Amino acid sequence: MRHIAIIGSGPAGYYSAEAAQKKFGDDVAVDIIDRLPVPFGLIRTGVAPDHQSIKAVSRRYEKTNLGDNVRFVGNVTVGEDVSVGELQELYDAVVLATGAPNDRVLDIPGSDLKGVIGSAAFVGWYNGHPDFKDLDPPLDARSVAVIGNGNVALDVARILAKTEDEFAGSDIVGHALDGLKQSKVEKITFLGRRGPHQIAMTPKELGELGQLERAIPVVDAEDFPDLGDDAMLEPGMRKSVTHLRNFQIDEDGAQHKPIEIVFDFFAMPVEIRGDGKVEKLIVERTELDKDLRSIGTGERYELDCQMVISCIGYRTPPIEGVPYEHGRGRFANTDGRILPGLYCVGWARRGPSGTIGTNKPDGFAIVDIIAEDIGSGSNKEGRKGLDRLFDARDVKAVTFRDWKKIEEAEIARARDGSPREKFTDIADMIAARD
Ligand code: NAP
Repeated sequence: MRHIAIIGSGPAGYYSAEAAQKKFGDDVAVDIIDRLPVPFGLIRTGVAPDHQSIKAVSRRYEKTNLGDNVRFVGNVTVGEDVSVGELQELYDAVVLATGAPNDRVLDIPGSDLKGVIGSAAFVGWYNGHPDFKDLDPPLDARSVAVIGNGNVALDVARILAKTEDEFAGSDIVGHALDGLKQSKVEKITFLGRRGPHQIAMTPKELGELGQLERAIPVVDAEDFPDLGDDAMLEPGMRKSVTHLRNFQIDEDGAQHKPIEIVFDFFAMPVEIRGDGKVEKLIVERTELDKDLRSIGTGERYELDCQMVISCIGYRTPPIEGVPYEHGRGRFANTDGRILPGLYCVGWARRGPSGTIGTNKPDGFAIVDIIAEDIGSGSNKEGRKGLDRLFDARDVKAVTFRDWKKIEEAEIARARDGSPREKFTDIADMIAARD
């Protein structure tokens, strides 16, 4: 028998469990451990609430839990309830699928002012992550700066701009919907330190920005290279840039809407100023060097704004004793191998890039590597040993069956048209199970 512990129940964790099930059949026992009492990680608390079709992949992960050989072990914090070292003693392979939940730091003066928020916190707030339910973003802001030109920046701007009706069918949590209904936002500015040809926004997501009821994207034609240069872009990027070009409004301003979403390219935030809270952003114009890196030109200007949301990427939290690559914010690894018996997968392995689907080949690849390393397994104790430790420590794990009860309660309390109203308190999740 092979015993595998996966830490993290997001896409990377579940695809790895599915791969183990497919590769080893009945000769494997997999435990998927998560700090929260609810599974699916980014699917639940990262993917935007108005992107339900992406969230539907959780049904596939549910199937993985149907067999006895895969268990969900929720409400267990590795590092507190059990250590990585203890798991390594019990299991043939321990896989870190912990994602990259920490924001990459916006390292400029004033970034500690009230009203400066990282995307992990803001996304967690509107998605009902227990850690961020009390965020209280300043939604009376009329002007919001969104730093970064990636898909998370797009999610954040779209959520800020949507009307209540546009959230129909989404599972945005009640506290966020109520807050956003009071929003005073009139202008959202994307600050991209490079140009239209260097964005990290994908076409489908960018196209949605042109379909919003009360918001209109605005670009400056001067920022674009010649149209002919688009031919050199790879097809996905070319589509994205075509969307951007189509955002150019007629000069007669025929398309005015109450909210403007402005793309400010070649714009690098250098300082945030305000009296106790954000009032303005100091921005430096940039240009690209021959390697397409942004360099400051020395020209500076001010952007009035009352909230700054930094969407500049994420980092995996380090774990004591596990080799870590500080520059890239992920575990030090070779093809997912960290140390004998210790592996990583998904964002914890490669950094925060790619879509949910990228984690599938990643999960299958790590299981091939584990298979090479552990052969037919050993006489380690696996889950029996874990349960013994939990009994001794009075750790009450949440099972997959418990999660189904929590889910049922969330479905029962959903507002009309919404698939669920998530619990945002861990105590409420546990109470729904009991
Ligand atoms: P991302 O795609 O890496 O984009 C980060 C953005 O931040 C880039 O525009 C980057 O600019 C900019 N940036 C980084 N450091 C900066 C700094 N110090 N100052 C100013 N700008 C800075 O990251 P993400 O948006 O967090 O997305 C993470 C991953 O999740 C991506 O693979 C994304 O596609 C995926 N995702 C997908 C979806 C979807 O498919 N619907 C939704 C959300 C997220 P440079 O290019 O100049 O570095």
